[in-house]
Amino acid sequence: MDGDADFLMGEGTILGSTEVNGHQTVDPSVFVLDGAVHSTPPRKEQLPILSYHETPPSSPRPVSYSMPPASLEHSAPAEASSSSSSSDLSSDPMDVITPPQLYVQVVIPPPPKFSHLPYSSTKSGLVYDVRMRFHTEPVSSMDNEDDIHPEDPRRIFEIYEELCLAGLVQDAERMPNLDPDFQLFRIDARHANSSEICLIHSREHYEWVRSLQEKTEEELNYMSIKLDSVYLHHNTFECATLSVGGAIEACRAVVMGHVKNAIAVIRPPGHHAEHDEPAGFCFFNNVPIAARVCQDNFPEKCRKILILDWDVHHGNGVQHAFYDDPNILYISLHVHKNGQFYPGKPDGDHLHCGEGLGIGKNVNIPWADHGMGDGDYMFAFQQVVMPIAAEFDPDFVIVSAGFDAAEGDKLGGCHVTPPCYAHMTHMLMSLAKGKIAVCLEGGYNLRSIAKSALAVTRTLMGEPPDRLDPIEPSPLGVSTVQLVMRQQSKFWKCMYPKEMGKGSNGRVGGERLHDIIRAWQSKVMFDEFTMTSLFILREKISKSFENQVLATPNYFDARPLLVIFHDPPDVTHVPDPQTNKIELHNTWLTDVAKTYVDWAVKHDFAVIDVNIPKHITDPEDDGGYVEGDDSEARASATSELATYLWENYIEISDSTDVFLIGIGAAYSGLIDLLGRHESCTDDSSPIRCVISFVAENALQSVKRPADDYIGNWYHQHSLVFVANNHAAWDPSRTRKLRKKYGRLVRSPHTNLNEMLVEHKDEVTRLLMEETQDWRKLQAQQNNAKTSASNSVALRLEERDMREASVPNPLRSPGMPPVGMFTVSSSPRSPVKR
Ligand SMILES: [Zn+2]
Repeated sequence: MDGDADFLMGEGTILGSTEVNGHQTVDPSVFVLDGAVHSTPPRKEQLPILSYHETPPSSPRPVSYSMPPASLEHSAPAEASSSSSSSDLSSDPMDVITPPQLYVQVVIPPPPKFSHLPYSSTKSGLVYDVRMRFHTEPVSSMDNEDDIHPEDPRRIFEIYEELCLAGLVQDAERMPNLDPDFQLFRIDARHANSSEICLIHSREHYEWVRSLQEKTEEELNYMSIKLDSVYLHHNTFECATLSVGGAIEACRAVVMGHVKNAIAVIRPPGHHAEHDEPAGFCFFNNVPIAARVCQDNFPEKCRKILILDWDVHHGNGVQHAFYDDPNILYISLHVHKNGQFYPGKPDGDHLHCGEGLGIGKNVNIPWADHGMGDGDYMFAFQQVVMPIAAEFDPDFVIVSAGFDAAEGDKLGGCHVTPPCYAHMTHMLMSLAKGKIAVCLEGGYNLRSIAKSALAVTRTLMGEPPDRLDPIEPSPLGVSTVQLVMRQQSKFWKCMYPKEMGKGSNGRVGGERLHDIIRAWQSKVMFDEFTMTSLFILREKISKSFENQVLATPNYFDARPLLVIFHDPPDVTHVPDPQTNKIELHNTWLTDVAKTYVDWAVKHDFAVIDVNIPKHITDPEDDGGYVEGDDSEARASATSELATYLWENYIEISDSTDVFLIGIGAAYSGLIDLLGRHESCTDDSSPIRCVISFVAENALQSVKRPADDYIGNWYHQHSLVFVANNHAAWDPSRTRKLRKKYGRLVRSPHTNLNEMLVEHKDEVTRLLMEETQDWRKLQAQQNNAKTSASNSVALRLEERDMREASVPNPLRSPGMPPVGMFTVSSSPRSPVKR
């Protein structure tokens, strides 16, 4: 055979089929080609029955025939085959082939097994009921009429209108001429009843909301003052029960398969409502009630439910409703700000993971700040939400869909775009065989929620999500997601890196490597430069402090002194790809600060080396994971230590010229020292220059009340290397960089270590220039000493030589006298020579 053409229908070929077609059954093991009998060709070759460029127009059509069954059971004679051709077949407008006498061509398409694809041919559902707009803030409770409450009744109408304009809604009045086949299926909302609502709420709470119907407007206004962010209206109960009923019916329709998925455009929202109190514009918790109703109504189909909450606020009510429930997985992405953002409770953090049987079934992704965007949400979905959701393998997915993280929502202050909401929906649709119901929660910018809800609805209906602009997560987003992954790795097999195995007392045990490395550094510094630890009186006795300040023995002498405040050395590693473990043989230590110490010691400086640990190991350290101390805390530790060193060692030493180097967080600490101590900057101060390396810290000026001169002093006595991407270089900065920030140098690098390498020559040149006088003096003194001792030695030598009358090979005429060797070219001090 050579190619697809051999298998075109009607070219003298009988293709077998095992499918029953009317009365006929064709033996698939036999087919005839050019009169010869062949066994069935390999399946791979059978597949390309048609190819676009070779197929005659009529050939794809099913062809029927009539013939005596007997002729199928025998191979046709060779001559009969050649009498038939494809043109015979395609030219027959009736598609009825009259077979030659002894030979038959048969093409029998199998009947379809299914009439349709059940999921894709089912519609998406929509819940919307205009009556949910009747819960409004009473005008009498407003401070002024233009100050419209963000939970505005127009929210749901705006979304509905957007769906109508997109032609997606069966609404005869608005869109009379559209084909209902391509529109959403309308699901009627209804009032939820008390037994449904009391699956989540207390009877007292239900009765309280119901009682609002009978209250006067004044009573309602008075009552709402005492509540947590809710307004009351005598229609509140009507709307709240409709909202719950809408969520229930949307979910039930999906679970029963009446619709493939659904969106419920409902209000008031629900996810802040607690068991027995309203909160945050919410009265009844729509989504948890719907989840419980589904579990009740369909215990087989709806055992495990995922509730995914992408509202910008933490759904405290949902978390509390299912905190010990193993069958409801609650995942919430929200701005947390360490509990400073609504609902303002600490339990929205990443450490709250459920309790009892429900442990691990509560996943909070708590953004540390506003400003999160598509990159952060996609990163969280890819790294945390989808792996955990897939491992949980829910029967049904409900989205608590607030759109207040959307671009344009001032309350949320985040930047999630409609395509990102579509992608999140699309990913969730891969779970639970596509059974997903999206229920509206918050979202207060009318345009943003309309566009976002439209994107979600289109995706639910089967439209692929729009492409996202190139995105990447922010550093803050990455750190939050990684924190969550580490925490959730205790409960989910798919989560890496794994939290370290803890003993029964919660202690990992062992030493922190930063203590070990500093101890090793102090040993090396002692071996190489006889540097030893300086005594520091401190309140907290800690390993981190033991070797923190190391000094060469001559730090009190009359010579230049370099004091360098730096971070612990950098550790880089490549983790084991299988176990994710950090192995020592694939871990490297880079200590750029030490190269400065090396240089300084070799060039006759006394050196005090100060390590500012990223975390002060606490005496009650439990040995587990700890966050690094923040840069403010590290700056104040530097400032305290620098002050201590200044008062107890530097100021009272004989140092001729003092140079301070501050790297990273230590920079602010040194600026603080200069501001606090006049003796650092007065005429008799030995400080020649303060050299700083700044990457993440803001630029600072030396502040001292009622001292105008200090800015000038700092400018003359500073050199500040600033990272290339530092905000200080932003061209939009309207204020010019002023002298008070010191002598600024823009580094080509952004990383402190790279900056230290890059600018080492500049720094060492400055150190040499500034100590020139001392070196000259030193050289003169040494010359004097050596020439004196040389003349004594020479006289002794001449006497010896005279006595021995033997020439001295060392005194060759080309050699300079010993004292003429320059100091700087020699690694050792001439004194020691
Ligand atoms: Zn919200």
